[in-house]
Amino acid sequence: MLPRRSTKEKIFILMGLTGFALITPFIFLRFFSGDYAVALLDAFISAGMLSLTISVYKTGNTIFASVLLSWIGILGMLVTVYLQGAEQVIWCYPAMILVYYLLQPKHAISINAVATILLFLLLRDKLSDTIMIATLVTIVLTNLLAYIFSFQTLKQNQLLTDLSIKDPLTNTRNRRALDEALQKVISQYQRNQEVTSLILLDIDHFKEINDSHGHKIGDQLLVKVAELISQRIRTTDDLYRIGGEEFVIMPVGASINEARELSEQLRTMIESSPQLSKFKLTISLGVAEYQSGETGEHWLHRADQALYQAKRTGRNKTCVAEND
Ligand code: GH3
Ligand code: MG
Ligand code: MG
Repeated sequence: MLPRRSTKEKIFILMGLTGFALITPFIFLRFFSGDYAVALLDAFISAGMLSLTISVYKTGNTIFASVLLSWIGILGMLVTVYLQGAEQVIWCYPAMILVYYLLQPKHAISINAVATILLFLLLRDKLSDTIMIATLVTIVLTNLLAYIFSFQTLKQNQLLTDLSIKDPLTNTRNRRALDEALQKVISQYQRNQEVTSLILLDIDHFKEINDSHGHKIGDQLLVKVAELISQRIRTTDDLYRIGGEEFVIMPVGASINEARELSEQLRTMIESSPQLSKFKLTISLGVAEYQSGETGEHWLHRADQALYQAKRTGRNKTCVAEND
């Protein structure tokens, strides 16, 4: 099965291949017209783009590749100006905007500030004062506008992402986020076969707690349980609320024994929590290790069967899912 790719990966691969296809012919053109230095530069940029594209294709990691591609673009532009003359400065605008597309605005503005200083040093004897000032002003303006646009987009995207993946009551992640995480973890497994498990947990007799203390207290208890679990698990192991009083934890990279151990720690923590003792609140848990080839739904279903077994055999316990 092919790993599912994020939009960012797809765009990166498309951009990398397009850049490679557009720049490669120039290596030969420059070489046959005797422009060996520029041919070498084009070859460097082209090879860089191809290797970064292959790396993203293989690892799915766009962060490292984005930083390198930004520097390839900026250094390529600077060397072009150095080798081919001051009029090539026009390439600084697309090169700097590319950096805003690839990186966070604060990183982009830092790289572009360095690039602007280097450009100034390269051009100071080559341009008239008027053109030099106009060049610097347009670079600053371009960066200012790109920064504002990029910053706004980043904030809006963060807000939209938060709204679409967060559970408003407990501030944990929601079912949609779990579906995405399952896809991601399964894609990772297909790449490196690294063992990984998930834990499904459900509050015991929550309906009775609601009935005797009221829905509002029930809500507060849900928030408390989520808070206690979030504090106890690693920051990498996200917590998801997937139903009324049902949660999932994904301890990525945990074997079934490690996940069972974590489950038991969570169970005893909730059982003995002074803040919950008044309500005699307990949880039951089902643990399942990922099996090669299964879908996220099937993995979750096996954890659910284990949880069902925990409920059936007395509650306030952890059960482990059978492998098929
Ligand atoms: P079991 O031990 O078998 O899990 O019993 P249970 O009572 O916890 O399970 P059941 O599925 O029968 O009931 C779940 C209850 O959770 C039903 C509902 O009253 C409560 N619940 C679901 N969502 C919320 C919520 O958002 N807030 C509150 N306060 N209660 C909720
Ligand atoms: Mg329940
Ligand atoms: Mg339930």
